[in-house]
Amino acid sequence: MEDSRPVNILTQGERVMLPAARRQIGACRDKSRTQNGALMKNKPATNRVHRKLGPQTTAIHGGEPPRHGVGAPVGTAICRTSTFTFSSTAEMKLWAEGKSKAYIYTRYGNPTMSVAEQKIAALEGGEAAVVTASGMAAISSALLGVLKCGDELISTAQVYGGSYRLMRDVFPDMGIKVHQVDTDLAGLEELATPRTRCLYVETPTNPTLRLVDLHKAITFAKKHKLISIIDNTFATPVLQNPLAMGYDIVVHSATKALAGHSDVIAGVAVGNKHWMERIRHMVIYLGGSMDPEAAYLLIRGMKTLGVRIERQCKNAMAVAKFLEKHPKVARVHYPGLASHPDHQLAKKQMRGFGTMMAFDLKGGLSAARRFCDRVRLFLLAASLGGVESLVILPIYSSHYNMSAEELQRANVSAGTVRVSVGLEDSEDLIADLQQALA
Ligand code: PLP
Repeated sequence: MEDSRPVNILTQGERVMLPAARRQIGACRDKSRTQNGALMKNKPATNRVHRKLGPQTTAIHGGEPPRHGVGAPVGTAICRTSTFTFSSTAEMKLWAEGKSKAYIYTRYGNPTMSVAEQKIAALEGGEAAVVTASGMAAISSALLGVLKCGDELISTAQVYGGSYRLMRDVFPDMGIKVHQVDTDLAGLEELATPRTRCLYVETPTNPTLRLVDLHKAITFAKKHKLISIIDNTFATPVLQNPLAMGYDIVVHSATKALAGHSDVIAGVAVGNKHWMERIRHMVIYLGGSMDPEAAYLLIRGMKTLGVRIERQCKNAMAVAKFLEKHPKVARVHYPGLASHPDHQLAKKQMRGFGTMMAFDLKGGLSAARRFCDRVRLFLLAASLGGVESLVILPIYSSHYNMSAEELQRANVSAGTVRVSVGLEDSEDLIADLQQALA
């Protein structure tokens, strides 16, 4: 779980406090005033850190404004406003001409959202980020920011069901042709045409945890000058950082592990300033912008991302080992097990094996339903990445409305159960599985 990426949160903090930005966050002021309005003297920022910071320090302090001195709130302020004032029409004119970065309207940007954006950008090692109303808003805005009518897209066939249905049911009507490749990337070269514009991958995949070789995929994308987009929801920046390998855009369902408490729907795209500008435009015009309250929950969740993932990975390994030995279980899909087809690849490209797994029950759908109906501690619910452990049947959730061939290609059977392992004590989780499988 070690990571020595060069992240300097002070750069992040300083960016927030540039003169224009200081005016922007003035909407949630005022750090140097006491409750009765008296001015307090703030400490000069002499205690600056000039060394690379670890990922957990980055998660806690990244993107936050400097908070030394008297009266600065430690928690992030929620800028609960839809709109922002200007001091004059001259200021508004500057904004309209693109010469001022002042906040105007929360769909375009908001100080709380900016903190969330800078924190996730620091965690993923990106120049910038755009937060969105959901993971699907991040995915659709990223893809539509990159693609236009007549373009072709190559995507791994095994992706989250919503992303899959967007590409299957919506993109063809927009004149965007989608080619699919399996996670082993076999036959990838043959799919490239002069119209191919983008490569989209998800790894590990939802729901059966197959891995895409990140190095192979990016080598192909670079060779054909494709924009590379990766859904990093399952791995999180704690376990892999695709931008450092040359990927252009990372997208997340921040609803999941980033926020981590199953209490918010959120998404984010991360990458360089050029792509983030494009994606922000798509978010502004398609309207998938985040709410400041959601941004606050995301910020708070991200602060504990590292410790949550570390502990959840340990729990997941214990659960996977238990399931693998259980006589009623046909197969466990967890990259941490030596029996997993991508185990070696996981060891090579991830810093841990993740918090998600799936397993197939020998008794098929009826056994899977019986198991899901009997769990007591695990909750029967869609979504993942939160502190509570969850189970779900993909055929009744992420993979509804798919043909038998599509399910087969996604490696999903009627007896497949997906498990999101939470933060409970692993002995309690295993005891619950034991009784539900009995
Ligand atoms: N990507 C992955 C891997 C997911 O699992 C999900 C949702 O389950 C999404 C994207 C979509 O995210 P959201 O539900 O936040 O729109």
